[in-house]
Amino acid sequence: MVASARLRIGVLALQGDVDPHCAVLDRLGALPSTIKSVGDLDRIDGLILPGGESTTIGLLLAKSGIGAAIREHYRRRALPLFGTCAGLILLAKTIEETPDQPHLGLLDVTVRRNAFGRQRDSCETVVPVPLFGPEPLRAMFIRAPLIVGTGPNVETLARWRDHAVLVREGSILGSAFHPELTNDERVHRYFLDRIVTLRSPS
Ligand code: GLN
Repeated sequence: MVASARLRIGVLALQGDVDPHCAVLDRLGALPSTIKSVGDLDRIDGLILPGGESTTIGLLLAKSGIGAAIREHYRRRALPLFGTCAGLILLAKTIEETPDQPHLGLLDVTVRRNAFGRQRDSCETVVPVPLFGPEPLRAMFIRAPLIVGTGPNVETLARWRDHAVLVREGSILGSAFHPELTNDERVHRYFLDRIVTLRSPS
């Protein structure tokens, strides 16, 4: 059994693409659980914020108190967070055209929503990720945000068409694409491995 096998990973389940993330986590041997209330956060080792509609999820995060609780878990115990697409938008410090939409503001990036253009509503493609070796990653972009700026502590793990599409800052991971909708599980596996690495004393 790999060290990450029994990690308990929450998937924020207020709106959006929840089940496919749970399925990937299950396949990788982690224990997925859906997060629907503040108390659900106490039992998890990491949290995925899925794709969906960031304005809707942001409002629900604010209304339910889960948003404030996530910030608190992050501040207190550096809860590992992984945001995909709308989840990345919610984690971003700055959302370019709609700066006032409710969000968490924990990841030092600026995003531009729906930035790949209407004609690119959805596309499956391959993205080189040097960290994962020579085989490029299969990735699905759906009304994806563009990362237009990264802070000094943000590491870009993958670029596609000249833009960062997979980034990391401390215990936070963010992808502009949906890694849960292809059968390439390497980004989820990386998130689980990161949690194990962050826990082990160096
Ligand atoms: N365009 C959506 C938003 O701005 C994100 C799309 C997605 O998560 N696939 O919230």
